[in-house]
Amino acid sequence: MIPFNRPCVVGGEEEFMQEAISQAKLSGNGPFGQKCTDWLEDQLGCERAFMTPSCTAALEMAALLTEAGPEDEVIMPSYTFVSTANAFALRGAAIRFVDIDEKTLNIDPAQIKQAITDRTKAIVVVHYAGVACEMDEIMRLAEEHDLWVVEDAAQALTSTYKGKPLGAIGHLAAFSFHETKNYTCGEGGALIINHAPLIERAEMIQEKGTNRAQFSRGMVDKYSWRDLGSSYVISELNTAYLYQQLNHIDQINEDRKKTWALYARELQHVLALDAVEGPHIPDEAEHNAHMFYLKCRNHKERAELIDHLKKNAIMSVPHYVPLHSSHAGEMYGVFSGKDRYTTRDSERLVRLPLYYGMLEEDVRHVVKQIQLFYQV
Ligand SMILES: *Cc1c(COP(=O)(O)O)cnc(C)c1O
Repeated sequence: MIPFNRPCVVGGEEEFMQEAISQAKLSGNGPFGQKCTDWLEDQLGCERAFMTPSCTAALEMAALLTEAGPEDEVIMPSYTFVSTANAFALRGAAIRFVDIDEKTLNIDPAQIKQAITDRTKAIVVVHYAGVACEMDEIMRLAEEHDLWVVEDAAQALTSTYKGKPLGAIGHLAAFSFHETKNYTCGEGGALIINHAPLIERAEMIQEKGTNRAQFSRGMVDKYSWRDLGSSYVISELNTAYLYQQLNHIDQINEDRKKTWALYARELQHVLALDAVEGPHIPDEAEHNAHMFYLKCRNHKERAELIDHLKKNAIMSVPHYVPLHSSHAGEMYGVFSGKDRYTTRDSERLVRLPLYYGMLEEDVRHVVKQIQLFYQV
């Protein structure tokens, strides 16, 4: 069976984990946590990075930092992972789901604009498949209405928009190092701060609401409960594993891009069929080959394609169920504007196998089976 995903292993992760064990510091924000933090700050040119147990945790920190509460509304796409919404619903904020752009499946700035009210506090964008949202327009809207912008960049480390790294544009951003992402440590994430005044509070939120970070730097002689917070620190064992992958990030990108390009090239006749579509990369976006997907003509055709691939030992998978039509989504949010593409495209999208080290013969087998299915 060709799996949909295989967690990335570049080799050498164990050595760093062994080193973490030998250094007798396994809790977070130790030497390996610092190495990953430095790497991210250097790569992004951001004010500060915090290594977290997940992207979900980083989004929760972001929600706390925006101070979104029961009086507030937060705008985001309905076509996203539950954590994007959960983080703000946990603060009691009302979610306003909006439609996506038909080509990129990213949040549509025109839909953001119509959803803004006096209660809007923040815009959360998701760079779907590691492809940049229209950040210039989104930042302009945010500035005009005095709103926070949070980038859910879970899939988007090393991608860029007009040459700028994703995660370095909004006030806040969140990355994921879950095993389904390009660079991983099983479970892990990072919160990125591009707006310096938020740093001090972020340090407390990460450390259970205490000023422990100041204590560690010798700035205060004991630490105490100062703010809301939780345990948003990731273990050294995880950051040790991750650090090896950050050191080999070009190697990982090259490998994934090779597979992505092979799909794009070999599937061109399939993608030329009427109403069958593939990923669209805007000129201003450079992506990290996080995902290769097909949009079938409809829901039924997708089910048949997934079935055909499965019979030929290939795992392919749908993606998000629109949040506004999910049980919790109905409780904590409303869809604002018209759902022209969210439901339609979520019902016909299928993701193809793509992982570090995927054999070329396996990519060609997937391509061949798709060609057979579409008879091209
Ligand atoms: C993977 C993902 C998350 C969650 O990441 P975790 O690290 O598993 O918490 C959030 N948002 C998006 C868009 C994702 O793809």
